[in-house]
Amino acid sequence: MSRLVTADGTPLLIGGKLVPGGAGVFGTVNPATEETLGHAANANADDMDAAIAAARTAFDETGWSHDHSFRAACLRQLRDALRGHLEELREITIAEAGAPRMLTGGPQLEGPIGDLGYFAELAETYCWDTDLGTASPMGIKTARTLRREAIGVVGAITPWNFPHQINFAKLGPALAAGATVVLKPAPDTPWCAAVVGKVIAEETGIPTGVVNIVTSDDHALGAQLVADPRVDMISFTGSTATGRTVMSTAAASVKKVFLELGGKSAFIVLDDADITTASRYAAFSVCVHAGQGCAITTRLLVPRRHFDEAVRAAAKTMGGIAPGDPADAGTVCGPLISERQRARVERYLDIARFEGGTIVVGGGRPRAVDRGYYIEPTLITGVPNTSTVAQEEIFGPVLVVIAHDGDDDAIRLANESPYGLSGAVWGTDPERIRRVAAGVRTGTLSVNGGIWYAADAPFGGYKQSGIGRELGVAGFEEYTQTKLIATAE
Ligand code: NAD
Repeated sequence: MSRLVTADGTPLLIGGKLVPGGAGVFGTVNPATEETLGHAANANADDMDAAIAAARTAFDETGWSHDHSFRAACLRQLRDALRGHLEELREITIAEAGAPRMLTGGPQLEGPIGDLGYFAELAETYCWDTDLGTASPMGIKTARTLRREAIGVVGAITPWNFPHQINFAKLGPALAAGATVVLKPAPDTPWCAAVVGKVIAEETGIPTGVVNIVTSDDHALGAQLVADPRVDMISFTGSTATGRTVMSTAAASVKKVFLELGGKSAFIVLDDADITTASRYAAFSVCVHAGQGCAITTRLLVPRRHFDEAVRAAAKTMGGIAPGDPADAGTVCGPLISERQRARVERYLDIARFEGGTIVVGGGRPRAVDRGYYIEPTLITGVPNTSTVAQEEIFGPVLVVIAHDGDDDAIRLANESPYGLSGAVWGTDPERIRRVAAGVRTGTLSVNGGIWYAADAPFGGYKQSGIGRELGVAGFEEYTQTKLIATAE
């Protein structure tokens, strides 16, 4: 078995072939060391054009979208082939995404690879035709069948923070549904996507053009994919700002957009909860992968009379988590992805100070490390929920603590946000928890530490956190459309 990344770096996958990029190569950087790991093919506009053409041909001119059991077999074959490369994939993911090793046993690698099996099963067991029975509209007795069909060519555009999780959360359901795909990953994590292309080309029977993977350091290639009328749907995960641009560009060709965007989720502690345990849990969560998760709860809402206790507990936890080498098995908080991202987080910390906030713990770069894009876990108090750092997504290990005056006030504060991605509630009275959970306007909610992430559990946002749902049957159906067939009897 060949290695996935060679001295030449990684190629593009276009029309079943592993090819060099028309714009040469670009470097991919290890955020823990700031060193260039190697190169990835840098696609140009012609490459993107060829990838879209290949996906269109594969959809229009082959039986891919009709042969459900073949697609299921291909997905299982891909899963098994990737498992054969697990240790190399793990090292690539740690080095390129700065993902803590402990997360690669779950959502950063092994979880999403395993999830391909769930989508294989869906392709086989899904009810593609539903009998709606007969009716006699306008006096004509008619038998109606509602058929689900694949949406066509999907442009999948992804970020860098959980590259495999997000790439496979699009590839899995799209391929299971019978769509063909052009995947454009983030410029920061090209290898994580390109190596999947190599496995597809060399170790699976996935037909030519069904999956195309186009790495580039130029965001314009994403825009090109969105604008192209041969693409039927854009499945986008990224920032809300880019999501807005994607939506407006897609409008010109009236294509479907599926958006997974940013978040600023609230962690509500009710006054009957164990305040210390809940606050420590919230503080720990925000440090995982240096806070680079869209659904991480970054606002801790605590009862006013327990505010000091909550801050003490959160500070103790965050002060005890030293950012460190993601390759170490014990590391929770690795580096940020890039110098640009660290500068962005540091700008927010300056804004917090400017807005009168108190930095209780952290607030800068860790002194113990002299390279890598690290930032200290940082706890902020003394700012209102309307402040910039409580309203905008920071995407770093930064937690803001805000006092609430009871359950209704906590719900109000949680909802006082342009986002609606996720959240958490801690308490003991089930009826109060149920009421608060019902009041918070978000796509997922964790109660007392429950985990909502799973292949069969739809995930997504309310408000400006997105449109549509990823994973689960709902996520699979995003890549389909319905056709009503009415037959006169
Ligand atoms: P980003 O929006 O900068 O980029 C995401 C992708 O969009 C990249 O592949 C980029 O090349 C591409 N892109 C940039 N401009 C484009 C354009 N005009 N048209 C088409 N594509 C374009 O996001 P990022 O910095 O890579 O990732 C971090 C963001 O992703 C955060 O806001 C985070 O909340 C969000 N995110 C959301 C989810 C979710 O499921 N809701 C999951 C992970 C990350």
